[in-house]
Amino acid sequence: MSDKKVLIIEDEKAISDIIKFNLAKEGFDIETAYDGESGLKKALEWKPDLILLDIMLPIMDGFQVCKKVREVSTVPILMLTAKEEEVDKVLGLELGADDYITKPFGMRELIARIKSNMRRTERSAAPQTTPSQIQEYGNLEIDLNRYEIRKNGIALELTLREFELLKYLAERENKVFSREQLLEEVWGYEYYGDIRTVDVTVRRLREKLEDDSSDPKYIMTKRGIGYYFRRL
Ligand code: CA
Repeated sequence: MSDKKVLIIEDEKAISDIIKFNLAKEGFDIETAYDGESGLKKALEWKPDLILLDIMLPIMDGFQVCKKVREVSTVPILMLTAKEEEVDKVLGLELGADDYITKPFGMRELIARIKSNMRRTERSAAPQTTPSQIQEYGNLEIDLNRYEIRKNGIALELTLREFELLKYLAERENKVFSREQLLEEVWGYEYYGDIRTVDVTVRRLREKLEDDSSDPKYIMTKRGIGYYFRRL
């Protein structure tokens, strides 16, 4: 895990310092920013492997920073939320954050989350050496190994989570999974968040994949049970 770069954007110096101390001990390379504007600048220039992003920040808040970073980068973003309303907002807004963690959090949990989000990036990296494994589903082509997806021949931009969820369901077509199962299997660890994360990711996926996201053809809801991928 050494040499991985983590950018901490958090205006409370005491919190920033303790995170920095603990992550440095794990061998991460750390940069800090104490307001949204300089955080965004560092995110774009220093090119971290993961961003820890507080929400209430001076000058530019975490929601705006997240949106701006997402316009140009797929770097994993872990939002630091302080209260339930912020969690609702992170889930409700289509910000493209990969994950969130609610304050106060333990350092072990934070580090587990950081590593989990980074592993996902690593798995999708180095696509050049990985052979293609293209599956066709209707007007979709999914390259399960290279993390690429095309609809009618045009590449779609999915976040890692979206792709992981799609891959998991598509590889097990027509099998229904509960949201709890999907959290455990796709998010990959004992997840402390809630199952709305799954619903939000499904909604974003549908908006990207489906011709009409209110009448999906691929990612289907089994009422009262969960979701499945339907092969056309
Ligand atoms: Ca703050």
